[in-house]
Amino acid sequence: MKILDGKATADLIKSEIAREVELIVSAGGKIPHLAAILVGEDGASQTYVGHKERACAQVGFKSTLLRFSAEITEDFLLSEIEKINNNPDIDGLIVQLPLPKHIDEQRVIEAIDPKKDVDGFHPVNVGKMVLGLPSFVSATPWGIIELLDRYNIETSGKNCVIIGRSNIVGKPMANLLSQKRSPGDCTVTICHSRTKELKEHTLNADIIVAALGVPEFLKGDMVKEGAVVIDVGITRVKADNKSGFRLVGDVLYDEVAPKCSFITPVPGGVGPMTIISLLKNTLKASKNR
Ligand code: NAD
Repeated sequence: MKILDGKATADLIKSEIAREVELIVSAGGKIPHLAAILVGEDGASQTYVGHKERACAQVGFKSTLLRFSAEITEDFLLSEIEKINNNPDIDGLIVQLPLPKHIDEQRVIEAIDPKKDVDGFHPVNVGKMVLGLPSFVSATPWGIIELLDRYNIETSGKNCVIIGRSNIVGKPMANLLSQKRSPGDCTVTICHSRTKELKEHTLNADIIVAALGVPEFLKGDMVKEGAVVIDVGITRVKADNKSGFRLVGDVLYDEVAPKCSFITPVPGGVGPMTIISLLKNTLKASKNR
């Protein structure tokens, strides 16, 4: 069993991006600039945005964080997005999800200029991705593709089971892995909350992507020998430590890992690769402009 080390891979890619930024700046080019909007006080969201800001600093990007209270109106948020859309210095914009219940997330996503939509959630980018056209691809599935690529994992013709059908992970992951490209060319099955006999599907899978948000859902007896297992899940579970919680994936690691050819840990697997995709998308947005 080998670990797919997302942290080490992300560190390597960060140094590649930092070198590219140095070259751009020394040639008189513009420093890539990512803006993030955070609404409310959700602890996990604050942590994620903090990681993204730190990563920007590490590679030499500029970043701007706009923090608003959970009480703001949807119209106010839309007007702030409009300002960023029109700000020529800002290349990419992310709005950290989830948003408070009274704000329509889809309206907010669609208000972002697709050219600055570095999360790849706008329908224009999703549509282009599905057609295999150049686009910003949702950061988590794109990070997983990059990780499979860096470890030279053969995907062509493999049976791949994705557990979860969210717009930001499950659906784009299924699409990317079924595309005619490398990594890709998989035969993909999507399992979800209504799937019957899920274990029959996972036992037949060469590659499993667990993205359902149910801690330690995937057990050892659900995985065949030699499978590649990608654990997307991150759930905060109460723990008797300084932070008061620990991060738990969707895979029961101790049971599943011994059966795998490759597996991602939590933390240190998919999470750091998600941030890398966001940096790469921001660099691309900056170059496009
Ligand atoms: P989501 O809640 O939007 O979607 C979950 C999906 O899982 C749904 O499609 C649902 O049908 C399916 N599902 C739920 N229970 C199931 C069950 N018992 N059996 C089969 N399918 C089931 O979640 P999401 O936004 O896709 O996130 C999934 C997990 O990934 C969460 O833990 C989230 O925190 C994590 N996540 C991690 C990263 C990262 O960077 N590592 C990024 C995004 C999401």
